[in-house]
Amino acid sequence: MAYDMPLVAVPASFTAPEAGGGAAAKSMPIERLTGVLCAGNISFDILIRPVDRLEWGTSTWVEDYVEDMGGNGSNTSFTLAMLGVPVRLHGMVGRDSYGERLLERLRAGGVDLSAVTRSRAPTTATICVVNSAGNRLFLQRLGSSAEAFAEPAEFNSRLVGDHSHYHLANLFALPHMKPRAAEVLRRAREAGLSTSIDTGWDQEGRWIETLRPCLPLCDLLFVNEEEARKLTGKNEPGQIADSLRQHGAHDVVVKLGAAGCAVFWGGEDFHAPAFGIEVVDTTGAGDCFAGAFLAALHRGGSCRQAARLANAVGALVVEQLGAVRGVRSYEQVMAWISSRGSVET
Ligand code: ADP
Repeated sequence: MAYDMPLVAVPASFTAPEAGGGAAAKSMPIERLTGVLCAGNISFDILIRPVDRLEWGTSTWVEDYVEDMGGNGSNTSFTLAMLGVPVRLHGMVGRDSYGERLLERLRAGGVDLSAVTRSRAPTTATICVVNSAGNRLFLQRLGSSAEAFAEPAEFNSRLVGDHSHYHLANLFALPHMKPRAAEVLRRAREAGLSTSIDTGWDQEGRWIETLRPCLPLCDLLFVNEEEARKLTGKNEPGQIADSLRQHGAHDVVVKLGAAGCAVFWGGEDFHAPAFGIEVVDTTGAGDCFAGAFLAALHRGGSCRQAARLANAVGALVVEQLGAVRGVRSYEQVMAWISSRGSVET
């Protein structure tokens, strides 16, 4: 089946904003996304694989070693830019060589870096230990992420520009963002932006306590299966979405790894199967998935088309060691999907 996504950004399903205004009302329909202001951490990743056993006091040989960009904000914004979406990254790197290398990589991908500032602390750096099944374990020096977002952003024209959507990539990875994420989302909405969050892993284990105030202010929530369990205590995607909606969430996308994703979009609920691939490393898959989902909406695609593009980009990322080494241009991803034949949603 051909995967035909119109380039016009206003689909037939366009709906007017909810009446009544207020913080919980949508400021801008997410379907009219013209560009993304993406906030999140920016990390320098060192990846090694395969490591199936860790034992103190021993030495282990690994086959692959890669240094590349990681970090939830950088991965998502890089994917958006590669897929042709105007994107401005809001985040922080150190004044070190890691910071320079990351900025160079993001610039080459087409990301607007005018809202990236430099910290006194060194750039966030992550050792990613990957096992032969592609599962990852992260050891992170927080560095610049511990300084980022010390003040809640002013959503003035300098920061927002022509972008219509605000995406917050992993609030849990940003100590200053966690307690004020709801306030930030409220400000984004007041500035007329639609909003999304990709949750990430909460090292502090507070989960729904931190996320709850954000949910009514978030038009689209991305969550992976394990995070969803921690947030809701539920295993089944329908129950996860119900539980999140009871806390005020609007549209919800549950990322299901090798099973693809489950989408709860207004009244339209469906499962979109993953593409069958050989797994090398799942690092970054969820971040790039979220970027691709938003990119499809930017092109005027339906939620089903968005799920399929996101599953494709997720699969391409998983085939490579490194968070973004599998990310390609929109045309290349579409050609890859066509070459795979039909994957129905
Ligand atoms: P996260 O990286 O946030 O933990 P997932 O592991 O669910 O999220 O991966 C994000 C997306 O990447 C999935 O929804 C799917 O589209 C794709 N993906 C992940 N693992 C696989 C896999 N083993 N095979 C095919 N696609 C995958």
